[in-house]
Amino acid sequence: MNPMRSRSRKFWIGAAVLATAAAVVVPARVWAADGFVAGASGLGDPFFPLGGNGGYDVTNYSLVLDYSPSTRHLDGTATITATATENLSRFDLDLRGFDVSAVMVNDRAASFTRDGQELVITPRTGLRSGRSFTVVVSYGGVPVVITDPDESIEGWIPTDDGAFVVGEPQGSPGWYPANDNPRDKATYDIKVTVPDGLTAMANGVLVSQTSSGGKATFVWRENSPMAPYLATATLGRFDFTQYQLASGLPVYIAVDPTLSTASVLNKLPDIVEFYSSIYGPYPFDAVGAIVDDAKNVGYSLETQTKPVFDRVPDEATLAHELSHMWFGDSVTLTLWPDMWLHEGFATWSEWIWSEHDGRKSAHQYFENLYNTPAQNTAFWTPPPGNPGTPVFLFNGTIYNRGGMTLQALREKVGDDVFFRILRDWATEQRYGNVTTSEFIALAERESGLSLQHFFDVWLYQPDKPTSW
Ligand SMILES: [Zn+2]
Repeated sequence: MNPMRSRSRKFWIGAAVLATAAAVVVPARVWAADGFVAGASGLGDPFFPLGGNGGYDVTNYSLVLDYSPSTRHLDGTATITATATENLSRFDLDLRGFDVSAVMVNDRAASFTRDGQELVITPRTGLRSGRSFTVVVSYGGVPVVITDPDESIEGWIPTDDGAFVVGEPQGSPGWYPANDNPRDKATYDIKVTVPDGLTAMANGVLVSQTSSGGKATFVWRENSPMAPYLATATLGRFDFTQYQLASGLPVYIAVDPTLSTASVLNKLPDIVEFYSSIYGPYPFDAVGAIVDDAKNVGYSLETQTKPVFDRVPDEATLAHELSHMWFGDSVTLTLWPDMWLHEGFATWSEWIWSEHDGRKSAHQYFENLYNTPAQNTAFWTPPPGNPGTPVFLFNGTIYNRGGMTLQALREKVGDDVFFRILRDWATEQRYGNVTTSEFIALAERESGLSLQHFFDVWLYQPDKPTSW
C-alpha cells in the first residue's frame, strides 16, 4: 500500500494512542462429545483477531460475480475448495454485509447463521480432518464499504463507472466470503460480468473475454498462492491493453480513459526487470497495473499481479507497488504487526530503483530522513517492528524507518551480503508466510554477525537510533 502524501498525515496521530492497543481476543472453541469441533471464529491475529477462521485450509476460490454500477448491486456465487485440519462439526467464513441465500457443503444444503463478520456454517454431516470439501455460498446486495482503524476505506468501493476493489487488511469479506487471513493462501478463479463497455480486471492471467446480451464477462485465473486481501475485481470504463515482456510474461494494463498516464507506465518493464535481477525471478505468471480515478480512496495497493492505483501514480509509487510482488505478495507476513516486512521493503525498493536509475541514492534517502531531529517523535515513533495498534499499521514510521532499517543493514554488512540476504529471503520464502525473527535469523546467518542489538535499535526502540 502507498498512502498519498496529501493524506498520509492522518496516520500521524501521536504516541498517546499506543497505550490503547486493542486487547487480543482469543476466539473460543466449542467441543462436541463425538470428537467433532466447531472451528475457531478467528486466528487470533493481534490486530484483527477475527480475520480468518480455524479448522480448514482453503486451496481455491472460484468467484462468479455480476455487478451493476447503476444499482450498485453485486450478485455472487463463491465456490471454495478447502481441506479440513480438524474434525469439524461447524466452521466459519468471513463475510461482511450481503444477503446470503444459500450455502451448500459437498453439494448438500447446509444451515448457516450470521454473527458480525462471521458466516457460521453447519454442514449436514461433520467434515473429517484431512479431507477436502467444497462450500458454495450464494449471496447478493449492495456491498458495504469498510472503514479501517486508521479511518481509510476498503472493500468494494463504488466509482463513477464501476468499483475500486481493495482488501488490505480486512476488506475482502466486503465482496466475497473468505478465510480472511494472510496465512491461508489459495489459487483463484474470478469471473466477473459487467455491462458491455466496461472492463473487469482481476488477478492473474486473462482466460477469456466474451460478450452477450448486453453484458461482458471476464474470466481471470491466479495460479499462484494468493492471500485473500490481495484479490481484486476492480472494474469500470478502462483503456485495456495487453503485451508481453521479453521474458514472455503477459502484461495487462487498464487505465481510466479520463486520465493520462503520460509515460510512467512505460517504466514497468524496466522496473520489473531490475527487481528480478536483484530479488530473483518475478514470482507470478502475469504483471500489470490498474489506474483508476478513485481519489477518495487515498492510496494504491499491491493487488497480486496488478497493483491498483486510485490516480496516476508517480514513478516511485509504481516501483513501490511492483516491488511488493516479491515482498508482501509472494513473501507475506504471518501477523499484521510485522507490516514493516512489506512497507519497509517497498520503501527501500523505491530508493534502490532511484539509485539504479542514476538519481538519488538509497544512502541519500537515508541521510535526508536521518536528519529528522530526535524530538520529532511523530517521525520516529512507533518503532516499525511494533506499531502497537492497527491505527498505526500504515504509519509513516513503518515505511520510512522500515526502509532505513534495510539501508542501515546494507551499510553494516556490505552490498554483497546485503543483496544476498534479500535475494535468499525472496527465494527461500517464496509464496510463504514469514516473521521478523526469521528475517533477523537469515541476516545473521548470511553476515555471520550478531544483529540482535542492530535490529532492536532499529525496529523496536521508540527513540531515534543513534548507535547500531
Ligand atoms: Zn506499500
